[in-house]
Amino acid sequence: MAVPKRKTSPSKRNMRRSHHALSPVNFQECPNCGELRLPHNLCSSCGHYNGREIVSSEA
Ligand SMILES: [Zn+2]
Repeated sequence: MAVPKRKTSPSKRNMRRSHHALSPVNFQECPNCGELRLPHNLCSSCGHYNGREIVSSEA
């Protein structure tokens, strides 16, 4: 089995991990009900997308 010759240095390890950060979730307000929703996604509280109702809201 192939085995690394040397232990990865802290510098190289941290350089590898420099791409691991998560970006914050980008919520936007629904223009219909003002609830927070993801962009390009149907509003989960009122079922509207692009100015019209896609899914009829229950209750
Ligand atoms: Zn909505």
